[in-house]
Amino acid sequence: MYRAPVEDIAFTLKHVAGMKSALDAGRFGDLGEDLVDAVLGEAGRFATEEVAPLYTSGDRRGAVLKDAAVTTPPGWKELYRRWIDGGWNALSGPEAYGGQALPTMLGVAALEMWNSAAMAFGIGPTLTMGAVEALDKHASDDLKAKYLEKLVSGEWMGTMNLTEPQAGSDLAALRARAEPAGDGSYRIFGQKIFITYGEHDFTDNIIHLVLARLPDAPAGTRGISLFLVPKFLVGDDGALGVRNDVFCSGLEHKLGIHASPTCTMIYGDGFQGAKPGAVGWLIGEENEGLACMFTMMNNARLCVGMQGVAVAEAATQKAIAYANERRQGKAASYTGTGMAPIVHHPDVQRNLLTMKALTQTARAISYSCAHAIDMARVSAGDEAAHWRDRANLLTPLAKAFSTDIGVEVASLGLQVHGGVGFIEETGAAAFYRDARIAPIYEGTNGIQAIDLVMRKLPLGGGDHVHGYIAELAAMAGAVRTSNVQGFGRTADALDAALGDLGEATRFLQKLAAEGRSDEALAGATPYLRLISLAAGGAYLARGALADQGRVPLCRFFAENLLGEVSALRARVIDGAESLAAAGKTLVSA
Ligand SMILES: Cc1cc2nc3c(=O)[nH]c(=O)nc-3n(C[C@H](O)[C@H](O)[C@H](O)COP(=O)(O)OP(=O)(O)OC[C@H]3O[C@@H](n4cnc5c(N)ncnc54)[C@H](O)[C@@H]3O)c2cc1C
Repeated sequence: MYRAPVEDIAFTLKHVAGMKSALDAGRFGDLGEDLVDAVLGEAGRFATEEVAPLYTSGDRRGAVLKDAAVTTPPGWKELYRRWIDGGWNALSGPEAYGGQALPTMLGVAALEMWNSAAMAFGIGPTLTMGAVEALDKHASDDLKAKYLEKLVSGEWMGTMNLTEPQAGSDLAALRARAEPAGDGSYRIFGQKIFITYGEHDFTDNIIHLVLARLPDAPAGTRGISLFLVPKFLVGDDGALGVRNDVFCSGLEHKLGIHASPTCTMIYGDGFQGAKPGAVGWLIGEENEGLACMFTMMNNARLCVGMQGVAVAEAATQKAIAYANERRQGKAASYTGTGMAPIVHHPDVQRNLLTMKALTQTARAISYSCAHAIDMARVSAGDEAAHWRDRANLLTPLAKAFSTDIGVEVASLGLQVHGGVGFIEETGAAAFYRDARIAPIYEGTNGIQAIDLVMRKLPLGGGDHVHGYIAELAAMAGAVRTSNVQGFGRTADALDAALGDLGEATRFLQKLAAEGRSDEALAGATPYLRLISLAAGGAYLARGALADQGRVPLCRFFAENLLGEVSALRARVIDGAESLAAAGKTLVSA
């Protein structure tokens, strides 16, 4: 079973992603390493001892819908209660509403552990935290006073209602309606699908954040507003009042994360004889809902990236343990008697090392993104702008690369198990099933790649990404000039990868500047992987220079996996024309 890798996580936070220098410079006030270590240690204990044991029963039983009420699997409601009683929901929440305001880095590190232990559990609080951030930034003082404290503590949970049957990636097609009621509130009508934890038994109230259109709203994304719609109306004294006209009409039967209810939500249909119209309140300005929701989505994108890292970590642990137990065949490196544990076979070692290295690169990228968010929060002026750009650049990498490798690593883990990997009892297949949603929700990975190329490469007039590449090159340069033994051809491999990255970046920037967006978009997904692998290699090198025990894995990555970068560069630069030509053959008249 999963054991939280607290030391690995602490090392990556401090020595790879920049937390130690920020702490030493006093950037996080009086927060010190002792408290960081204590929080990580306790989160690791809770994830290992309390969350992980409920994973398998949650996967098998799943959430159940009866009479518009959803029951989570046995023990999950009590687990959630212990989790909020431990203060975990409030870890990074705003202090003014009872949060501990600890850095995002610590919040996402803890999130990794909850998700490794049970991804279907970790996803729920992610949405609450996103709702907290959106309300804190955009809501009126009245709404904040009424809802934030209970959302920060976890007493109530939040949801995010964007998707409709005809509006997935393209929210311009959204149809849900909002009508002003004349008393400052609105009535919401429409159907939302795929709403995570839209209905459940964890909390007494559920606070839905819902995108809808006002009657006179312009068409497209400029006509979307954001509303807060509680399951139960809340009195001025904070007490729960009447049931609102919103209910769950169906639960999806899905590939993985079975314990996480994925709900069809009906707004304003006269639930239980109510006068039709779900009562809601505007968050932010009319028609600016998408900008408000983006606050929530950016946060959620990094959090979903952590799910990729989390499942990869859990799958890797399981596969390494199995490879040390299972015996088959002979291996030159095995000197014991009988058949060799399969961990001695070079091909199995390749699989396991690939799993380990990809997990560590994705963790380093994601924590670096969290670091940039933290630094933007504690800085001002040009420095804050720099860190905001960095967080914006790294968010699509953290989301898409981490969730892609989550699937890859879980698949390799299944492979290491052989036939029993395909059998549910082993548990390796469950990781694979769970991991598969993360590249899809919170903006598909294809949409992340488009965001990277069209909106993030132009940051800082196109210079920000080159500043980042120069920082990665400095990490590679440190390998070349260090006295540390065992790096083999790491420095050369990193130089080559970063050269390819610079070339592919300039190429895409030129295409975008010339308005050749289709050609640029043809290379977007290979480019996202390219920059992530090159950055990941540099981060592994930085870690290996700080802890020589990490040199072998860094060298393995550089000499075995980094070569993919050159093929990706070719795909970015030479792939568009053939893609467009062959693409035509797919389109039916
Ligand atoms: C388990 C689960 C939980 C979810 N939770 C929530 C939730 O809590 N709240 C919520 O609002 N939604 C939720 N969703 C919905 C999820 O965010 C959407 O499924 C996702 O955004 C993709 O939308 P779609 O399914 O309509 O796919 P589509 O938008 O139809 O996309 C289909 C394919 O086309 C590609 N594509 C689409 N447009 C473009 C484009 N312009 N350029 C290039 N490629 C494109 C996509 O990348 C994808 O591969 C959830 C979904 C699932 C399955």
